[in-house]
Amino acid sequence: MQTPTVLVVEDEPAQREVLAYNLEAEGYSVAQAKNGEEALLLVSEAAPDLIVLDWMLPNVSGIEVCRRLKSRSETRAIPILMLSARSEEVDLVRGLETGADDYMVKPYSVVELLARVRTQLRRSRPSSVGETLEFEDIRLDPETHRVHRGENLLKLGPTEFRLLTTFMEKPGRVWSREQLLDRVWGRDIYVDTRTVDVHVGRLRKALCAHGEDDPVRTVRGAGYALG
Ligand code: CA
Repeated sequence: MQTPTVLVVEDEPAQREVLAYNLEAEGYSVAQAKNGEEALLLVSEAAPDLIVLDWMLPNVSGIEVCRRLKSRSETRAIPILMLSARSEEVDLVRGLETGADDYMVKPYSVVELLARVRTQLRRSRPSSVGETLEFEDIRLDPETHRVHRGENLLKLGPTEFRLLTTFMEKPGRVWSREQLLDRVWGRDIYVDTRTVDVHVGRLRKALCAHGEDDPVRTVRGAGYALG
């Protein structure tokens, strides 16, 4: 199972540490930012699976960070859990329609915060919290790395497994080769976009090993989609 990454944005060092400590104890990989600028930079370098974002930050406020991330198509889907000091601020966040996915008022219960983080991740990246993914007759278990099509257990390499996980989290969504490189291979490694085609080919072969229909769609000039 892929470890979900959570970005904590909070200028108070003690509060940031407590958040990071508890999220790490829960099994998440945690990145920390002490202000809005740093948060935006970190997100542009590597998109986290979720952001815990404090409202009160020096210079660029949490609301502004949220507004900017939600206005860009590449970062819009990242769930944002906003923290604020007073309930009136939460009302204001709702009123401003910044697009934050959830809100909590300080002081919050850590247990409650972890539950809400998990809820958001289950919605956005179900495989990252161990949820079995299903699409038609294909069933993928992120914890055992087993993939079945109907009754048959499929033989998939690790790259094909990650590729299929990405497809199955958003059936019907068209992924460009660059987006797949980002999601499946990661940004740090240089891989040619043709590599994507090679692995999609291998994935198709594995999915159709028993003569089934090919569920992967090639979208001319755009990329690939499942279904
Ligand atoms: Ca703060």
